[in-house]
Amino acid sequence: RADTAMYYAKRSGRNQYAFFSEEMQAISTRALTLGNALHDALDQAEFSLYYQPQVSLSTGKIIGAEALIRWHSKTLGDVSPAEFIPLAEESGQILAIGEWVLRETARQIKQWLDDGIEPVRIAVNLSYAQFQANDLPLIVSAILNEYDVSAKYLELELTERIATKNPKHTITILESFQQYGIKTAIDDFGTGYSSLSYLQRFPVYKLKIDQSFIRNMTTNKNDYVIVGIIILLAQQLEMTTIAEGVETKEQLDLLKQLGCDDIQGYHISRPIPADEFTRHFLEANIKSKN
Ligand code: C2E
Ligand code: MG
Ligand code: MG
Ligand code: MG
Repeated sequence: RADTAMYYAKRSGRNQYAFFSEEMQAISTRALTLGNALHDALDQAEFSLYYQPQVSLSTGKIIGAEALIRWHSKTLGDVSPAEFIPLAEESGQILAIGEWVLRETARQIKQWLDDGIEPVRIAVNLSYAQFQANDLPLIVSAILNEYDVSAKYLELELTERIATKNPKHTITILESFQQYGIKTAIDDFGTGYSSLSYLQRFPVYKLKIDQSFIRNMTTNKNDYVIVGIIILLAQQLEMTTIAEGVETKEQLDLLKQLGCDDIQGYHISRPIPADEFTRHFLEANIKSKN
């Protein structure tokens, strides 16, 4: 679509009437192709959710999972959310996709309960456009009611960038979630611009330490120090900490020493489909066969 191409032209930082390079042409062609395919993706049932376990460092037990969207396009093959979520944000399709993610999560939790399996709390990522809507807490709560699922099984992730765009609005929405009994977490923490005074007023229960700090914390002193400070900060604010992108035993050991509560990352498991997640991580939670 023309406005998508224009968006890329503007984002290049040059005059939009300037020479349209081959590279820019390729990027906008890809954006157009993806945008068109994305249009039919919901109707064609091309989305699915993968689940990545979250584990407590003190008990070694699974405490939750993050739901991550996957798109298998019939025409384009697998497309990463890092590529299509920003496009869906641009086009407004993110609202419908975001609602699908919430519904699919509620449906899966209900399925586990019906199968006699005690679920773990599932964390869902929120987009900027979703978070802008004043009725988001009402929508989420209505979906939980519709599927007869307790709010205790759901967690919502908001990136630090989104949370800090309009702190007053953020506080209002987060307080509303709190009233519905829905826990919230700040995602990719450390990469945005939280003012400490606002952070302390955000009623979130968890900080997710961005994986960029975890990646080099065993070799880079600065990253190691930042991770330690985030953990201390969270402890003072009585928030839980989870480290994202933990890939090695060395990282796990350092995080444990620093007092981090939980971890998520390839060291435990990659994001996996629901059936695999059930077999590998919820086996111990099977209560009865209905
Ligand atoms: P995120 O929410 O920060 O999710 C974590 C990303 O890190 C996921 O990428 C996950 O697969 C990846 N990851 C997890 N452990 C490791 C590790 O040990 N090493 C490395 N290198 N990576 C790891 P993914 O699934 O590609 O998702 C990328 C981003 O797309 C997410 O970042 C999130 O911002 C967005 N996203 C994914 N699903 C949804 C969704 O349903 N709704 C919205 N609005 N955004 C989503
Ligand atoms: Mg996330
Ligand atoms: Mg993250
Ligand atoms: Mg991220």
